[in-house]
Amino acid sequence: MATRENFIIDTEPVPPLRDGEIEIDTKFVSLDPAMRGWMSEAKSYAAPVGLGDVMRAYAAGHVVASRHADFREGDAVVGVFGVQSHPVVDGARALKVDTRQAPLERWIGGLGMPGWTAYFGLLEVGQPKAGETLVVSAASGAVGSVVGQIGKIKNLRVVGIAGGAEKCQYLTEKLGFDAAVDYKAGNLVGDLKAACPAGIDVYFENVGGAVFAAVLKLINQNARIPLCGLIADYNATEPRPAPNLRPLLVKRALIKGFIISDHSGRAGDFQRDAGAWVRAGQIKYREDIVDGLEHAPSAFLKLFAGANFGKLLVRVSPDPTRRAT
Ligand code: NDP
Repeated sequence: MATRENFIIDTEPVPPLRDGEIEIDTKFVSLDPAMRGWMSEAKSYAAPVGLGDVMRAYAAGHVVASRHADFREGDAVVGVFGVQSHPVVDGARALKVDTRQAPLERWIGGLGMPGWTAYFGLLEVGQPKAGETLVVSAASGAVGSVVGQIGKIKNLRVVGIAGGAEKCQYLTEKLGFDAAVDYKAGNLVGDLKAACPAGIDVYFENVGGAVFAAVLKLINQNARIPLCGLIADYNATEPRPAPNLRPLLVKRALIKGFIISDHSGRAGDFQRDAGAWVRAGQIKYREDIVDGLEHAPSAFLKLFAGANFGKLLVRVSPDPTRRAT
């Protein structure tokens, strides 16, 4: 398990801007499970963050100084700017967002990478058809909550798996899921079977481990499994024994991993559809906001204990005298 001691808070002067760069006053930093992978030297899709480097993170803020022709002071921008209050980055790494359409923090949450992951993973990889049963794990979280709501828009039976009664109640009462299963209640296979009387056609995998093993027992012929995340294993020091894969074989099921940064060209499709769905009240978001950049390390650990409820963000406290990295 990552610990608070893996991080230090440091302060240093903001470097002078070079041509093409912008300085950002960060308002929100996104804390994502992927950061755990970036802290490891295990072979992965992205290079690890070096010891002593600024922790990589999605962030949102306003431009306070610019030497890039496309940006002006006051522009709202998002990007992978790191866990720091005043990043100086190449303007090419920043994306302007429209805060009249949605608040700044939403552009690194439901309308940002997690929402786009849900959209691409479900519709493109999962290929759902109206009337099918969709199961999604980590269902009350940033990605899972959007997966389930898109599933409802696409007329699927949607079943969420989440930890605890409060999260399960939220899924059915606030987000309109057809059923929710508490994987911590001790009867996962039985409860899932009851919630999915017609079996499972699409399983959006966010967690792995025991949840994956239980779902596999209930998949239907030609089931599709978009493999988005395996958070139950991110802190593992030994490979977990594989579950019984026989259901994949006999049910002719498809499991496909994807990394959303490979599909950045498709973000526009998501923003077009998501904008309409949000305006129509068909998609709701929940953000779990922790105040103070100095709390980012301890807040990050919440993800692995299920202690976050919604998209986990840090709000950088306004303090013009402090410029922490
Ligand atoms: P969430 O907001 O869903 O937060 C993580 C949640 O995971 C926790 O709240 C907890 O929910 C659940 N969880 C943690 N540990 C376990 C465990 N041992 N067993 C079961 N559930 C657990 O995070 P995100 O929505 O940001 O990410 C969800 C998944 O999607 C992650 O695996 C992430 O890595 C992946 N992802 C992948 C992307 C890609 O490109 N492939 C892009 C973005 C995210 P609960 O209380 O319900 O247990």
